[in-house]
Amino acid sequence: MFDKILIANRGEIALRVVRACREMGIKSVAVHSTADSDAMHVRMADEAICIGPPPGTDSYLSIPAIVAACEITGAQAIHPGYGFLSENAKFVQILEDHGITFIGPTAEHIRIMGDKITAIDTMKALGVPCVPGSGGGVADVAEAKRIGAEIGYPVIVKATAGGGGRGMKVALNEAEMESAFQTARSEAQAAFGNGECYIEKYLQKPRHIEIQVFGDGKGNAVHLGERDCSLQRRHQKVFEEAPGPVIDAETRARIGKICADAVANINYIGAGTIEFLYEDGEFYFIEMNTRLQVEHPVTEAIFGVDLVREQIRVAEGLGMSFTQDDLEVNGHAIEVRINAEKLPDFTPCPGKITQYHAPGGLGVRMDSAIYDGYAIPPYYDSLIGKLIVHGRDRPEALARLHRALNELIVDGIDTTLPLFEALLAEPDIQTGNYNIHWLENWLETHL
Ligand code: ADP
Repeated sequence: MFDKILIANRGEIALRVVRACREMGIKSVAVHSTADSDAMHVRMADEAICIGPPPGTDSYLSIPAIVAACEITGAQAIHPGYGFLSENAKFVQILEDHGITFIGPTAEHIRIMGDKITAIDTMKALGVPCVPGSGGGVADVAEAKRIGAEIGYPVIVKATAGGGGRGMKVALNEAEMESAFQTARSEAQAAFGNGECYIEKYLQKPRHIEIQVFGDGKGNAVHLGERDCSLQRRHQKVFEEAPGPVIDAETRARIGKICADAVANINYIGAGTIEFLYEDGEFYFIEMNTRLQVEHPVTEAIFGVDLVREQIRVAEGLGMSFTQDDLEVNGHAIEVRINAEKLPDFTPCPGKITQYHAPGGLGVRMDSAIYDGYAIPPYYDSLIGKLIVHGRDRPEALARLHRALNELIVDGIDTTLPLFEALLAEPDIQTGNYNIHWLENWLETHL
C-alpha cells in the first residue's frame, strides 16, 4: 500500500487527488511553481515542494524536477492528473526506472494511443468501430486527393500526433484538399514536431460520445457508460453530461461491452476514455485518452464511484472495488467548465478574485481551487472550476444547474459563467437536441 503520493499537477485536479488521498489515509505531496506558492493545492496537501519557475516547461513539465521531488519527499507513486505529463510515455518509463509507480497506464499503452494512426489500427483490430479513412499516414497532396475521391467528400485531415483540437482541417471538395492538407501538416509540425497526417470521412452532424473504461491490468475491465460532450467550442468541451440524452440502455450496454472487452484484451490498467463520434445510430472511434478526463465527475455522480480512488487501488495492485454488474446508472449529471475568460471572444482573463461564493445543496459539487483574494496566474490553462450537478433525471439536473449558477459568485475577473445562463434558456439545450456544431453556430448569433 502507498503511504505517500505526489501529485504532478495543479489547480482543481490536484485538489481532487489530494481529497481522494486524504479519504484513503494516504499522505499527499503537492508540487508547485514559484507562481503557485499560494495555490490551494499547495495549502491542502500534506507537504509541498517548489519545483521551478512559472512556465510549465520549467516546472509541471520538468521530469527531473518532479522525480527529484519524489525522491526528496519519499513519495512512492505519482498521480499525473490530466494535461501536463499525464500522457507522456517517456515520463512513465523514467518513473519505472526509478522505482516510482505511475498512477495510470503503462508507457506502452500511452504510446500506442498517443499516436492516432496506431491507436486506430489497434482499436480496429480489437473490434471497435472506426471512421472510414486513409488507415495510415498520407504522404502528399496527390495521395490525399486519391483518398478523398475514394472515401468521398467532405473529409477531415488530422495530425497523427494531434491533441487539443489542433492540426485538423476540413476539405469540402477536391479543390480544398491541397490547402487543407498543407495547412494541417504545417500546423502539426509546428505544434507537435511531427507533421504526419491522416484522412477521415468528415461526419456532418455527429455527437461526441465517449465511453469511460477502467481496467485492472490483469485482463479485467468494465465500462462506466457514456458522456455526451458535443457542446464544444474550437473542439474544446464546455458542457458535458451523463448519461447521453440520445443513448438508451441497450446501446450503452452494446458499445460499453465492445470498449470494455477491447481494453481487457490488452490488459489495460486504470482509467481510460474511448472517444466516438455518433451519427445516425453508429459509433465511430476517434481517439482514446489514457488518463482521467476533466469531465470524469459526471460519471462519478451517476455511478456513485470515486474514479481517483479506483486509479490508486489498481496502481497498488488491488482489484477494482466494483464489477460490471455493480454499475447501474442512477439519475443524470451535468458539468459546466468555468474559465477565466472574457466573453464574447473567450480571451484569457487572469487576475485577482475579489469574492468567491461556491454553490451548495443537494446534488451540487463544485471542483475548484480558487478562493477569496486568489490571484489567477497568467501562465496556465484558464479553467478555474467545474460545477457538477446531479438529479434524478435530466430535467431535475437542468433545474439544479440553473439554481446552482444563481448561487455561484466569482467577482473580480471575467468568467464564462454568463454563457451557461444563456445556454440554459435554449430549447435545444433543454431537450438535448444538439450536435458538435451546435455551440459554434449558436455563439455566432448569440454572443
Ligand atoms: P483532439 O485530440 O485534438 O481533441 P479528436 O480526434 O478527439 O482531436 O477530435 C476533436 C474533435 O474534432 C471531435 O470532438 C469533433 O468535434 C471533431 N472531429 C474529429 N474527427 C472528426 C470527423 N471525422 N468528422 C467530424 N468531426 C470530427
